[in-house]
Amino acid sequence: MKKLTLLGAAAKFDASCASSGGGRAGRKGQLGNAHMAGICHTWAADGRCVSLLKVLMSNACQFDCAYCQNRRSADVERATFTPEELSGLVIEFYRRNYIEGLFLSSGVYRSPDDTMALMIRTLEILRREHRFGGYIHVKVIPGASPELVDAVGLLADRVSVNIELPSRTSLSLLAPQKAPEKIFSPMDYIRRAQTMNLEDRRHFAHAPLFAPAGQSTQMIVGATPDTDLTILRLSQGLYRKYRMKRVYFSAYIPVGTHPALPPGGSQVPLLREHRLYQADWLMRFYDFTPDELLSEADPLLDSTLDPKCAWALRHPEQFPIEVNSAPYETLLRVPGVGVVSARRIVAARRQSVLRLEDLRRLGVVMKRARYFLTARGVFGGSMLPGSPFLREALAERADDGQLSLFAPPPPPGPALPPAPDKPAAAPAQAAHAGGPPIHDPSQHAALTAARRLSAHDLVV
Ligand code: SF4
Repeated sequence: MKKLTLLGAAAKFDASCASSGGGRAGRKGQLGNAHMAGICHTWAADGRCVSLLKVLMSNACQFDCAYCQNRRSADVERATFTPEELSGLVIEFYRRNYIEGLFLSSGVYRSPDDTMALMIRTLEILRREHRFGGYIHVKVIPGASPELVDAVGLLADRVSVNIELPSRTSLSLLAPQKAPEKIFSPMDYIRRAQTMNLEDRRHFAHAPLFAPAGQSTQMIVGATPDTDLTILRLSQGLYRKYRMKRVYFSAYIPVGTHPALPPGGSQVPLLREHRLYQADWLMRFYDFTPDELLSEADPLLDSTLDPKCAWALRHPEQFPIEVNSAPYETLLRVPGVGVVSARRIVAARRQSVLRLEDLRRLGVVMKRARYFLTARGVFGGSMLPGSPFLREALAERADDGQLSLFAPPPPPGPALPPAPDKPAAAPAQAAHAGGPPIHDPSQHAALTAARRLSAHDLVV
């Protein structure tokens, strides 16, 4: 129990525990299965998934990474599981329905290979002796031998090597024992092993799977002065070169006193982590590149706007687009239009010409999208994409954050005046274009001209 308390708490800083991609049905004579849709059902207070038994094999570490609470020089109580202890815990917890899988990481106990050997033995007991079929995610220790990476890939669903810091300079400053090559070599080995495994399985249907849920990595954000642009460029490189399933970002939690770390033990805002995930999503599913989202002159993501809105505001010349004729790739660039709603628009406009009223039903978030599109030539926003007031209308306010389940409800405040985009009544203006009234008089003439132009040019 004491080891579990120590090693469970020590593992909480690793955010990369999501299980997307694992899919193995239960089989007769085996215990457990891995669900395709992910097995992470519960979330910690800070929003991170904790449904797996998330634990370290050992928190005794030979390395001295300045940002880590388990570093060799830290004054913390140490513990190490034996493979028998840990595998026994997993099985007992699984049988009691506490967990559905295992997320196993470790400090560098004696050496990278010794640590990997302990983890592999644990997995062998689980998979071979207990015939455990549940999801297992294992962290590969930087510097581990390829044979051990190979062995762990054949036992785990997902493997990952943490890149930890976004640049070579930061790594040599804060984690001098983790040379970049020790991190990239296992990543490269895993990618090549996956390719060979696919080839094997084409010829031999029963060839064992190698890391079927792919590989991922994690980066600590805010421990060093590296910008969001550097982080996103590195992430894109990792997706392309090593076919990463995910790159996770973890806002630095102050645990070290190294002079290169943020002063005063300041906590990096979780909002920065959130914006990076949004930008990462845009790169993976919306074909944005890091250099479209940010630039050398402006290398940090805007904390008040989601990255897609920020990009759209910087490119008013590309909007408004007409939903009935714009290509799918252009629809994807409209704030408020997601992959699903863009697909639905493309399917629905084959049947009929879409109106603004139809878009909400197709899943478009009109609160943002109406400033960037027309339907049948009709523009529904109260200001054009180039308006200097639009930024304020789209900005996310601090009180837009996620509500806590346990916080008391806020007291009722005084009645608010109507929001700029939702006036109480202005029928004369509203009737002008069939949309809400215009509040920026300087935009009125341009907007009217744009509506006439689009009505003529764009109605199918
Ligand atoms: S190797 Fe891992 S556990 Fe050890 S100090 Fe570095 S980050 Fe911490």
